[in-house]
Amino acid sequence: MATAVTARLLRVNLSRRTTAVETVPTATRELFVGGRGFGISYLYGEQPAEVDPLGEENRLIFLAGPLAGAQAQSVSRWMVVTKSPLTGAYARSVAGADFGAWLRFAGYEALLVEGKSETPVYLHLTKDGCAITDARDIWGTNTLQAQDVLHQRHGNRTRVACIGPAGERLVRYAAIASGRRTASRCGVGTVMGSKNLKAIAITADRMITLSDPDLFKELAKEQYRLYRESEKYVQHRQWGTTMTQDITNTLGVYPTRNFRYGQQKNAEKLYGEEYRKIRTGEFGCYNCSARCGKAHTVTTGEYAGAWSEGPEYESIWVFSAPIDSTSIEATIRADGLCDDLGMDTISAGNSIAFAYELYEHGIIDRKDTDGLELVYGNHQAMIKLIEKIAAREGFGDILAEGSVRAAAKIGRGAERYAIHAKGMELPAYEPRGAKSQGFNYATSNIGGSHCYGYAHQEIFGAPIPRVVNRFEEVQNADIVITNQNTTATNEVGINCSFARPWGWFPVIYAKLLAAATGCEQFADPNYLFKVGDRIVNLERAFNVREGFSRKEDRLPDRILHEPLQTFGAPGDGETVKELEQFLDRYYELRGWDEKGAPTARKLDDLGIAHIVK
Ligand code: SF4
Repeated sequence: MATAVTARLLRVNLSRRTTAVETVPTATRELFVGGRGFGISYLYGEQPAEVDPLGEENRLIFLAGPLAGAQAQSVSRWMVVTKSPLTGAYARSVAGADFGAWLRFAGYEALLVEGKSETPVYLHLTKDGCAITDARDIWGTNTLQAQDVLHQRHGNRTRVACIGPAGERLVRYAAIASGRRTASRCGVGTVMGSKNLKAIAITADRMITLSDPDLFKELAKEQYRLYRESEKYVQHRQWGTTMTQDITNTLGVYPTRNFRYGQQKNAEKLYGEEYRKIRTGEFGCYNCSARCGKAHTVTTGEYAGAWSEGPEYESIWVFSAPIDSTSIEATIRADGLCDDLGMDTISAGNSIAFAYELYEHGIIDRKDTDGLELVYGNHQAMIKLIEKIAAREGFGDILAEGSVRAAAKIGRGAERYAIHAKGMELPAYEPRGAKSQGFNYATSNIGGSHCYGYAHQEIFGAPIPRVVNRFEEVQNADIVITNQNTTATNEVGINCSFARPWGWFPVIYAKLLAAATGCEQFADPNYLFKVGDRIVNLERAFNVREGFSRKEDRLPDRILHEPLQTFGAPGDGETVKELEQFLDRYYELRGWDEKGAPTARKLDDLGIAHIVK
């Protein structure tokens, strides 16, 4: 094996206006590999407990994996790790397009931003260093406009990640966009806005150093061959995620009317084939032949001219079923708008659906909603609310806080209708009909996220590591752990989560990591799985230090006590019945105590007892 490639971190302090290049210690590389591992290692190691997520002390860490920018497929994604202003917990949010590759081309696997600038700035990374540059001229622009200006200013070898008006106004679920791909969840764009950091522009040539480039090339060739043989890859290339609603609505796990129903009537108007009819383009991330981003354009009606590089499944869902609309055009308009404004579609759409249910029950009325009539099916009001949230205008200012804080402000029993885990709004899979998915939301260290440990077994029937009955509860604690640890393992790469079932994980992935870094031990998949476990445990330790425990590993009361309603799908009448027993078993298997904290023995076994005090 050739020599090891050292990872570099660029540290930027916006308060002192200083920049410094650091070498990531060998011990950190060996324990955490890269990507998400580096993220939690630096966040836990440097950040004091209980800092204000919108204060100077909160670190905002951008990460590219050790494979980014190389020939291998689907491994150039990037990630942001910080403390969330939405949940107060650990935050990690993943995105695509080219930015991950460009961070590596600039010579870094991590960019750590601390402090806060007094005036709006952007960072410009080049081979000569990092400039902290005045951004007052682009403050107030949307994410497309900001990227256009910086591309024109710095040339076509430049890629940009930036916030939009939602991030500037500290909407608690603001996103960071690069191209039309976003790091959406947990309010990572809000943290960026709190630092007065509008954008990061990277101008670089396409060049990276690999430990063993010849071996890497061979492995990448083999990976590509396996991709093309995979039926799932072919299907993903054809459809992206635009037909997942066909599956979830049939299964009865398509949350409708703010998670009251598991199916939507007439949902076929929004099925994949309907999106295909108005598809106008295809986009992909750096060096990924799947090109799963499907763009759509509206040509007629009230939303004529609306365009989106999407919507993908989550956004198709969140801008239709939660408010019981079947307008395909409204989903495209809403998705494009959220991308422009820099806002997480899942939290925005859910916060809006929460308001619709309050309106239905008479908890709020037109006086509260600035005259908007929030009746199911009224997608025009949804579009208006998206604009108002990003502008923090009127009722939008309340919803910009997320459904939990909005409920506290509104009172009158509104909290019953906020559908969240740890304060983050739930994604597009009904926990009463896909219970491992639901328990993943409850135990996820970032709150209500499907991406923290996606239950492929329940939605797509993948029998890996075994066949799963989606209505079983305690029996599937091992599956929830496997899914969460596998995701963390996958994100040291940072490999795209869609690519996981395409027939090459984990053997070639492990070998690619070894060939890229020169760390021979990474070639063993079991070594990497232990790293995944280590990452989840350190993320949990971060949350424990912030005061989180068993009491926050919850699902909404609706999920626990209200029977699911479907229109004939299996799962009708289901609730989640055994949350406490599930947690007992899950904690036991994880080696955590009864309050959900990693035990000293577990930390010792993972080799991080010296890190977690
Ligand atoms: S599968 Fe799609 S999201 Fe994943 S890396 Fe490829 S193009 Fe990007």
